Amino acid sequence: MNNRFNALEALLHREKILVETHEESISEFFACNVFTNQAMQGFMVPKVYKQVEAIINAGESLTRELADHVADAMQNWAMAHGATHYAHWFQPLTGRTAEKHDSFFTLENGKAIDEFGSSALVQQEPDGSSFPGGGLRTTFEARGYTAWDPTSPAFILDVEGEKTLCIPTIFVTYGGQSLDYKLPLLKSQSYLEEAAIDVCQLFDENVNKVHVTLGWEQEYFLVDAGLFNARPDLMITGRTLLGRYAPKGQQLDDHYFGSIPERMYAYMRELENECHKLGIPVRTRHNEVAPSQYELAPIFEEVNVAVDHNQLLMDLMERIAKRHKLRVLFHEKPYAGVNGSGKHNNWSMATNTGKNLLSPGKDPSNNLQFLTVFMSTIQAVYKHADLLRASVTSASNDHRLGANEAPPAIISVFIGETLTKVLNEIEKGGVASAAGVKEVLNLLAKVPDLEKDNTDRNRTSPFAFTGNKFEIRMVGSTMNCAAPMTIMNMIVGKQLREFSQDVEILRANNMDKEEAILTVIKRYIIESKAIRFEGDGYSDEWKEEAKRRGLSNNADTPSALEAYATKATVDLFVESGVLSETEVHAHYDVRLEDYALKLQIESRTLAEMCMNQVLPAAITYQNTLLENVTALKSLGGDSSLFVGQWELVKEISEYINTIKSNVYAMRVERDKADELEAIERARAYCDNVKPLMEKIRTCADKLEPLVDDSLWQLPKYRELLFMN
Ligand code: ADP
Ligand code: MG
Repeated sequence: MNNRFNALEALLHREKILVETHEESISEFFACNVFTNQAMQGFMVPKVYKQVEAIINAGESLTRELADHVADAMQNWAMAHGATHYAHWFQPLTGRTAEKHDSFFTLENGKAIDEFGSSALVQQEPDGSSFPGGGLRTTFEARGYTAWDPTSPAFILDVEGEKTLCIPTIFVTYGGQSLDYKLPLLKSQSYLEEAAIDVCQLFDENVNKVHVTLGWEQEYFLVDAGLFNARPDLMITGRTLLGRYAPKGQQLDDHYFGSIPERMYAYMRELENECHKLGIPVRTRHNEVAPSQYELAPIFEEVNVAVDHNQLLMDLMERIAKRHKLRVLFHEKPYAGVNGSGKHNNWSMATNTGKNLLSPGKDPSNNLQFLTVFMSTIQAVYKHADLLRASVTSASNDHRLGANEAPPAIISVFIGETLTKVLNEIEKGGVASAAGVKEVLNLLAKVPDLEKDNTDRNRTSPFAFTGNKFEIRMVGSTMNCAAPMTIMNMIVGKQLREFSQDVEILRANNMDKEEAILTVIKRYIIESKAIRFEGDGYSDEWKEEAKRRGLSNNADTPSALEAYATKATVDLFVESGVLSETEVHAHYDVRLEDYALKLQIESRTLAEMCMNQVLPAAITYQNTLLENVTALKSLGGDSSLFVGQWELVKEISEYINTIKSNVYAMRVERDKADELEAIERARAYCDNVKPLMEKIRTCADKLEPLVDDSLWQLPKYRELLFMN
């Protein structure tokens, strides 16, 4: 029995999966499964609704009494939609979502009733000990609590007709410490928004609310479920730990603009329908660069809602894929030799007056505000590049960042030609006079052409300005967007505070407002210059140049994560209120542990595959060759008759021996690493286990094309990438 051939056979007989088609337009069923304000209004008396709306909009907490009204409305709405259970839905540090379901049904004096009060809405207690806590829970208590986040609407998840009311929540310890990605994100958001309002008021007194916006772009691979199941590595680690590249990969560039295969198209249509029902505003779908790689992007939203939607999307994607007998690969590098997947985070801020703070306006004074936010962001990235880099690091993203693939591990900022010119002019110009200010304002009047300038984007930049937002391209495709978004909000929040103070000081010395603003901007332009780079980020020259500029190049997770351990980082987290000192250490520990565990699992899986699949196939084939050689020899003929086969036997032997000895050496290294803790353990996995995995892979990939195809048990790259 050969798993591979069974899977290939099954693939030929896959039935077409029917996708529900909607008669209505998207706008008619969009968000029908979301407890929107409108839905709430339908289940509440107008007076109460008005009170609730005002409080939620102001970001204040509801009284118990009002929370009871919300709970009632939510329950009635959910039950009217057929929901039988409810769940607190949260985002533990595993990076994915978790939920604990409870039924509305309960007994009251022996009588069956449906119940869901504000206490069930506001708080729940899932078993905290099943989630990573970086030592936080042992210090306090093993319990974890989830608490309702009213800024993100509840929704109904429909799994094969089973409907559950899901309530977005934060997840904390008994002592209130964050055990998730959501609470730090919410805190960073308020920290930034507060600072941004102050800065905006320098330009427009009508600004009294700013919100951070995020539009993510999710890249992913699809693979047939049968082929996936025949690969222990894909099943367990999400990537191929071995596998020789197919003769044809992406070199012909024929995938990107090709038509989407019918089977994948059906999947995407169903996914989009489900997204729309859940209020996820997905809009774009297309093929990506690598074969079997795709991308999906929504209309941008407020950052916390966008984060929830991305998490929910990943969940839906996996569930719907199963129905289509497909599997989604979110891993940053599922296949060697073809492009990996990222999750670009497009980040900006918008005001209550309807302005995008990173969009240059029509008049120069608007552009002064744009330039303030723009330069403060660049200055923040310059100062905290290491922390930003740390926020997107992981065992799986290490295969992208710095591994000769988009984008490099060096953080730099791309801004395009027009803005580079503007910044250069300001830098050269004498701002410190009324005439200088006027000159700069004239220059700024020419800025609005940006979007055109940036259509020619630099795809090699990890952090690019794209006309009206920054695109953070180094985020990994498996990652929770909240991690990098929290850091962005925090560092820019800090920088905008400094900006306000810097301007204040100059104005206290009687400097005119515009001149003071420009003087600070000019200083930021000069100070942060090293982070700006417009060239090819993949080139070796850039690595050299970046080193000369003093920019860090942390190519692996253990070194990148060190940014969390510095005093400056802890101070910043504490000052901004995003995390306490213990929480920073806990989050750092969780990330280190995650790294070591991922490598441990990969290394074990690889060892098993070698011993169970690769070596048996090689040895069986080698036996056939040997029998043949022996037979030919016994005929007493010329040795030239079997010399080729004999050489093959030797070549195969060599690979078998190298694989076997390295698999054993790898186990020794794993055991040694596992005796260490935290950073030392992560380092040992990185330095001692990972290189052995690469050695083993190289040999296995050399064996693959030597061995009889009919003996090879693991689906090959050409099948994984091209059969659909
Ligand atoms: P492309 O990058 O393919 O040219 P767009 O520039 O239109 O496409 O948008 C890419 C992503 O940027 C989308 O997810 C979109 O929602 C997001 N985006 C656009 N404007 C903003 C903004 N002001 N803030 C945050 N995200 C945005
Ligand atoms: Mg883009």
